[in-house]
Amino acid sequence: MKKLSVIIPAYNEEKMIHKTASTISEILSKSGIPYELLFINDGSKDTTWPAIMKECQENPCVTGICFSRNFGKEAAMFAGLEQSKGDCAVIIDCDLQHPPEKIVEMYRLWEEGYEIIEGVKEDRGEEGRFHRFCANTFYKIISRLTKIDMSNASDFKLMDRKVVDILKSMPERNTFFRALSSWVGFKSTTVSFKVRDRQEGESKWSSWSLIKYAVSNITTFSVAPMQLVTIMGVLFFILSLVLGVQSVVYKIIGRALEGFTTVIIIELLVGSICMTSMGIIGYYISKIYDEIKGRPRYIISNIVNGEGCDDEGAEE
Ligand code: UDP
Ligand code: MG
Repeated sequence: MKKLSVIIPAYNEEKMIHKTASTISEILSKSGIPYELLFINDGSKDTTWPAIMKECQENPCVTGICFSRNFGKEAAMFAGLEQSKGDCAVIIDCDLQHPPEKIVEMYRLWEEGYEIIEGVKEDRGEEGRFHRFCANTFYKIISRLTKIDMSNASDFKLMDRKVVDILKSMPERNTFFRALSSWVGFKSTTVSFKVRDRQEGESKWSSWSLIKYAVSNITTFSVAPMQLVTIMGVLFFILSLVLGVQSVVYKIIGRALEGFTTVIIIELLVGSICMTSMGIIGYYISKIYDEIKGRPRYIISNIVNGEGCDDEGAEE
């Protein structure tokens, strides 16, 4: 039987660690799937790390990875992929919003030869209206840009070792895992699931952090905003030609003063467009700067290994 790595990013999830670990390990051992659990403590401010260490002592299949500070879920997922040793790896949230029973279904599909099994949301669960609106808009834009329907995509996915190795070898730092895993291609299929309510604690995403996340992801995946600048430039050039001709005509027939309003409007418009454009370009430059610095995506301060469990849970 081939081993499955379960990657679980955790940020301030003290109440969930034990519950998640025992639920997942129970389901997997019952199905006879050899597994390892990798908890990544993403700089939690509560007792998540001690909870993970305790879990490592109790269950030999658990590995804990501790970040030196909060680096975000993307970094945590990549750290998990890098440390995973299984023949395939699945990423799942620590709050049990992704139903762990589905892992078994995904694993079976992987055994049938699929290399990426994507978890697709049937609905988005309980969310505020504004939150939902932002999420929908974001997914519409990103689906257009990546030409992949992402409206119900999630980070809940199972990937073959081949895919994991390719993702690991990608040098970029500003990643958007959800889109990247579709971008790499491979034989893939989907498994749909219902998003459950969070069991303990609260969502780590405010609307503002989601907007920042959206902007960052759109720009790492597309240069369309920069091209927009050129298009606007051309449009305004045409407009200025038209208005220029008009002003000359007015001047000739002696009505020049009236054009003053137009001048001011144009001035304001062009000024604002210039500034926005510079802002957009500046944003990309800052991204390039970020990448070129080549800083590590995350810093691990501590890794705690369970005893290892090559045979546990493998009995069939
Ligand atoms: N998470 C993380 N680092 C962060 C924020 C979140 O590792 O900076 C983890 C969190 O512990 C959880 C998963 O990412 O396992 C999803 O987070 P959350 O449930 O808050 O997001 P939501 O389900 O509301 O999208
Ligand atoms: Mg959640």
